[in-house]
Amino acid sequence: MALAAMALAMSAPSFAHGVNRTGESAASQSRLRPTVNNRPPHYDAILAGGGAAGLSTAFHLCQALPGISLLIVDERARCRVDHSWCYWSRSPSHLDQLAYRTWDRLAIVGGTHTMVASLAPYRYHMLRTGDYCRFMHATLAGQPGVHFARASIDDIEDGPDKVTVHTDETHYTAAWVFDSRHPTALNLQASSRHHYLLQHFVGWEIATDEPVFDPCVPHLFDFRTPQQGAMRFLYVLPYAEDRGLVEYTVFSDSLLPAGSYATALRAFLETVLGVQTYRILRAERGVIPMTDRPFLRRQGSRVLNIGTRGGRVKPSSGFAFERIQQDAAAIARSLKAHGHPFDLPISPRRYRTFDAMLLRILQRRGELGQAIFLQLFMRNPIQRVFRFLDEEDTPWGNVKLMLTVPPLPFIRAWLSMVFEGLVQ
Ligand SMILES: Cc1cc2nc3c(=O)[nH]c(=O)nc-3n(C[C@H](O)[C@H](O)[C@H](O)COP(=O)(O)OP(=O)(O)OC[C@H]3O[C@@H](n4cnc5c(N)ncnc54)[C@H](O)[C@@H]3O)c2cc1C
Repeated sequence: MALAAMALAMSAPSFAHGVNRTGESAASQSRLRPTVNNRPPHYDAILAGGGAAGLSTAFHLCQALPGISLLIVDERARCRVDHSWCYWSRSPSHLDQLAYRTWDRLAIVGGTHTMVASLAPYRYHMLRTGDYCRFMHATLAGQPGVHFARASIDDIEDGPDKVTVHTDETHYTAAWVFDSRHPTALNLQASSRHHYLLQHFVGWEIATDEPVFDPCVPHLFDFRTPQQGAMRFLYVLPYAEDRGLVEYTVFSDSLLPAGSYATALRAFLETVLGVQTYRILRAERGVIPMTDRPFLRRQGSRVLNIGTRGGRVKPSSGFAFERIQQDAAAIARSLKAHGHPFDLPISPRRYRTFDAMLLRILQRRGELGQAIFLQLFMRNPIQRVFRFLDEEDTPWGNVKLMLTVPPLPFIRAWLSMVFEGLVQ
């Protein structure tokens, strides 16, 4: 759907007290906000955090419930423009038009062997965060009931009839709050019952003088880098023969010294790809928590955690963006159908056990990660791997997939988890 047509399709009049209608230079407009009888303005829903999950949820709420009054509160003044989100999907969506690149094939590279898989019916998309955020802000700002506030949220107070969101300057109330504030506030830590790893990476967008990349084939996992006791790989997104993003990624329990990422990137570019002259156009870095610790979804009677905070990051892969989109659509469906946002799909428990086993292996024997991921992708159709990672395959599909990975580490992990009472 064209952007303008989509904005029109979503428009329906409603009244809500204004905070900031554009969300662009939203510098603490909340001080100027009108009140009614000295009461803070009330909304149908407040999005606590306006990143990937907050904006997606707002978008789906507006589509399902035209005229809904929403307040999106974020401490940032502007959209993040410093990285990108990639995801696979087999259904066309409103996000397709925003894709910076879309690919129909992916490569997995191990040692001397390269496997190139055709993805159909899936496609692999890359969105730039700035494009996504600007699109969402423009579309949502066209909705009469949607308002933005720039403020840091200190506390969310749940109540039987309404929720109160306290910011550094004022407070607001709403019937529902969707909370995606950063999970660092949740004090994520390893525990004897759960596994906790970090996916950490530094990427360089580079331009070269010679053709280096095949623009049709990203490398999802390229293991041509020393493993040194942890799972390490390069993630290569080619934009053109002479331009692409190369990301050095590690799954481990702590970050590397700052310079190590650059050293590994240089070694890969110069030794493996044979690129001697290149310009770094942009750098991106990130840390994504990978844990099987259960995330609380419902936080009281009127607050739902979403995004990373709501456990939408797939523990064993770090992918979250498409899961966030699915979740946002499900929240809107629930609110429309039942008048509450809590009727959400729950994925089968067996996926928690698979995630926990893999995290246990990666945490204790990180050097095995390469063989596991290579066999997973090379001995299965990639569509089966996607269904597994999306937690939507049948038990028989899961069995077929598990029969292709090195058995001993998984048997050991499973037995040790049974012994420790971690498998129910
Ligand atoms: C660098 C990076 C790259 C990633 N790439 C991918 C990818 O390619 N594919 C994929 O599937 N997943 C990816 N992920 C994982 C995941 O999709 C993203 O982290 C995604 O942004 C999570 O969405 P979120 O809404 O939970 O968090 P965010 O997008 O970070 O949004 C949280 C928002 O809350 C605001 N906030 C926080 N605290 C407060 C407060 N106290 N008051 C007000 N506002 C507050 C923040 O300013 C922020 O805007 C990536 C993660 C990172 C960090």
